[in-house]
Amino acid sequence: MAIIGGGLSGLSTAAKLHRLDKSIQLVLYESGHRVGGVIHSEQVDDFLIDHGADMFSTQPSAAFDFCCELGLEDQLIEPKLKGRGARIVRTGQLLPIPEGFVLMRATQLWPMLTTPLLTLKGKLRFLFERWIAPAKDEQDEAVSTFVQRRMGQEVLDRIVAPLSAGIYTADVTKLSMQTTMKGIASMEKKYGSLARATTVRRRKGEDSVERSSTGARYGQFRAFRGGMVELINGIAQSLPDEVIQLNSPVDSIRPDGNQWTVSESGNDHEFDHVVLAVPPKAALHLLHHVAPRASAELAKIESASTAIVVLGVSTQDIQRPVETFGFVVPLSEKRRILAGSFASHKFSGRSPEDHVLIRVFIGGAMQADLLDKSDEELIEIAREELGELIGLTGEPVVTRVVRWNDAMPQYHVGHGDRVRIIDEDIALLPNLSFISNALHGVGIAPVIKQAEQVALETIASLQESGDSSDNEGIG
Ligand SMILES: Cc1cc2nc3c(=O)[nH]c(=O)nc-3n(C[C@H](O)[C@H](O)[C@H](O)COP(=O)(O)OP(=O)(O)OC[C@H]3O[C@@H](n4cnc5c(N)ncnc54)[C@H](O)[C@@H]3O)c2cc1C
Repeated sequence: MAIIGGGLSGLSTAAKLHRLDKSIQLVLYESGHRVGGVIHSEQVDDFLIDHGADMFSTQPSAAFDFCCELGLEDQLIEPKLKGRGARIVRTGQLLPIPEGFVLMRATQLWPMLTTPLLTLKGKLRFLFERWIAPAKDEQDEAVSTFVQRRMGQEVLDRIVAPLSAGIYTADVTKLSMQTTMKGIASMEKKYGSLARATTVRRRKGEDSVERSSTGARYGQFRAFRGGMVELINGIAQSLPDEVIQLNSPVDSIRPDGNQWTVSESGNDHEFDHVVLAVPPKAALHLLHHVAPRASAELAKIESASTAIVVLGVSTQDIQRPVETFGFVVPLSEKRRILAGSFASHKFSGRSPEDHVLIRVFIGGAMQADLLDKSDEELIEIAREELGELIGLTGEPVVTRVVRWNDAMPQYHVGHGDRVRIIDEDIALLPNLSFISNALHGVGIAPVIKQAEQVALETIASLQESGDSSDNEGIG
């Protein structure tokens, strides 16, 4: 069986398949010189730098369970207790997100009424949410439309949009409610308003974790002591040595009866099953002739780019230190950065005690033109912005610029329909599976959940074809 793509999607599918059935002969083709895709970590002197993801959610539990299956649980660490929570920039200051505000729902009222993030008018409009009628139809809508409609423009601009942009690097006027905030959209349908949903959930004791968004909620995340690359190394080590083939770009896949011909670096190889685990742009190219509808829909899924400027700085060079894990920046602040993450506040072992490791996010869907700038210019931008926001002075002892081009798939309005067409078109082809963070969830946990499902379905289909060929033999 061939797996094409050695990022988290491909690797975890391969590992799940191997765990389920050790007799399956697997070959994983990765075009690059290392596995892991957008997940990578680097040690620079005493700084441990995650190039992409720096932690994962234990909800859903798929990623955490997988770590346990692989025997990696000893390497997992929880976020530090001090400084839990994030801030939002407002008129140049880093203000706390109201306690209990999770994504787009306030699970506590008082912090919303006292937050300096909103004006009195904005707070009154937010309070009115309880009396706004739910949408009549089941149509998908943009996150911005939903929030404007229910909670008003201020809550959108000053809280929800920067928080969503921090997760999806997205344009909230295009981001799909149904595929990125399905739980919230259903609450509106079920309870009539988010305020009523919160009242009911509180009575049932269901919001206990959410209500402490600066405390307990962070307990749901895990990182690796040695950086997220340990997840990749752990998965790769669970596979037999000969499985992973680096520097092996796949140029095309062709069905041949029930078999597949995979052309890798100009050489053809035959397989009984192929799992495609490459990013959307690469997938649409490989599927162009074999699954044209899926390919056409994949072409409609945009991907955003970002650059992460990493700075290792002395604590003495921060004139206005803020005890927080990070901050997000609303567009209305007219700054040139999307967000900042204090990696060494979040997890131990990221920097020497007297230094701070900061990751500054630039670009995304809304400020893509900034990514045309050189690395030196991006470092300068990050230093200037941090100078204004936290009083950063002096020379950083470590700098890195990590560019992720087209790495963040955008779940725009209508995404659910697109994914359905893609899944249906792929299902028409025997012995082909497709897994991607562009389909059913962008985070590490949903990707591993998908990998498990793909592995189970693949094993079932292999057994089925084995059974039917046995029958043919008997017949
Ligand atoms: C900057 C950033 C920060 C993130 N932070 C977090 C976080 O904190 N927490 C979290 O849960 N998630 C986070 N994510 C999301 C998560 O890391 C990704 O969704 C996930 O790692 C994607 O894995 P993938 O295998 O689908 O894609 P990729 O990592 O893109 O892997 C695809 C692989 O396919 C290979 N490939 C492409 N074409 C071919 C070909 N023709 N032949 C062979 N190989 C090919 C590529 O070289 C690559 O290795 C983040 C993502 C980014 C970009």
